[in-house]
Amino acid sequence: MKLEFFDNNSTTPLSLAGMQAWEGALAKSWLNPSSPYRAAAKVRAHLEAAREKLAALLDAKSERVVFNSGATEGNNCIFKMWASELPRDARVGVSPTEHPSVLEAAQHYFGERVTWLPLDPSGAVAVDSIAYNALGALSVMAANNETGVLNPWEKLAENCGAAGIPYHCDASQWLGKLPAKGLGACDYLTGCAHKFGGPKGTGFLLLAEGKSSAGFQIGGPQENGHRAGTEDVPAVLSMLAALESTTIGDAAPRDAFESGILSVLPGCEVVGIHAERLWNTSAVLLPEFENVRWIRALEKRGFLISTGSACASGKAGASPVLSAMGYGADTIRRVVRISGSATTDSTAWDALRLAFVESYAALKKSAGDSPVVTI
Ligand code: PLP
Repeated sequence: MKLEFFDNNSTTPLSLAGMQAWEGALAKSWLNPSSPYRAAAKVRAHLEAAREKLAALLDAKSERVVFNSGATEGNNCIFKMWASELPRDARVGVSPTEHPSVLEAAQHYFGERVTWLPLDPSGAVAVDSIAYNALGALSVMAANNETGVLNPWEKLAENCGAAGIPYHCDASQWLGKLPAKGLGACDYLTGCAHKFGGPKGTGFLLLAEGKSSAGFQIGGPQENGHRAGTEDVPAVLSMLAALESTTIGDAAPRDAFESGILSVLPGCEVVGIHAERLWNTSAVLLPEFENVRWIRALEKRGFLISTGSACASGKAGASPVLSAMGYGADTIRRVVRISGSATTDSTAWDALRLAFVESYAALKKSAGDSPVVTI
């Protein structure tokens, strides 16, 4: 049975462009870019060209780009830096809907000095209700991994600039789905390749001008002294090629799917339906049965969906995003996350809708209830 992949917010397959760039570089650019011979200087040149191109896509200076192992590393690094350079009593403002790699790092380094930012009803940060002057730094993601709800990062960057505090934006879910242009306006930016068709274990951190992340990983002088460890040039080239080849998808088939299930599954809800959202994501609150049962029922019918963030999916009901939005543990256990890609067409979305209807009937039957929906 062919499986239809509807979990692109957890990871994506390597895109053709990403694969070709990686294979090409594995064959030709495998030397250590720091080695002293001319052959290695060519590899260094490819790495630096990738840095320039990524910086240009983000509207940032290339000196700010540090290639690393992904967004978890970048997010951790920022909080460690802030913990060492901000005044001892400084508070950091963090959206309670962040990925665990931000939530946990913030609590690890700042403990009680984390100020949880106010949200609007859709789960976006309430940008005008933030007391910027009471904070030493701010961290708010661009797009949420569980609901797809967007945050106004341009406005946040502007407000933080006016208040003179650094702003970090985790752009892991935005990159590859929406234009990267302008993201360099955020003082710190984190991203990872495997969310947009690049390889896993590869990403980048954009530093504020004049700042260094040296000390997070201690050793050699790689990455202009910002991060020790031999650079994975093939992976970086693959990440860049993957990002350059992304296209912005269309929300229409996802929207049709949502209207479809809202009309046939009584009591169904789409989280953040009225908010500005990623075009590929749908967080659906189902009328009954635990999300893991829906996931199994849908997999049997050839569809891979998720409970929310992959990191939290081992722990049912643990979604920090939905609890921050005020959903109780019992309700959270009925939420599934569906995330398509730019190539998921309306036929696939419609087939998923039908599979939900069939799954509901099957779950009802196994629970001894009579089916309530017709296909
Ligand atoms: N931030 C967000 C918003 C994510 O969705 C993810 C992926 O799960 C991460 C950070 C972690 O990224 P990585 O897998 O590169 O460590």
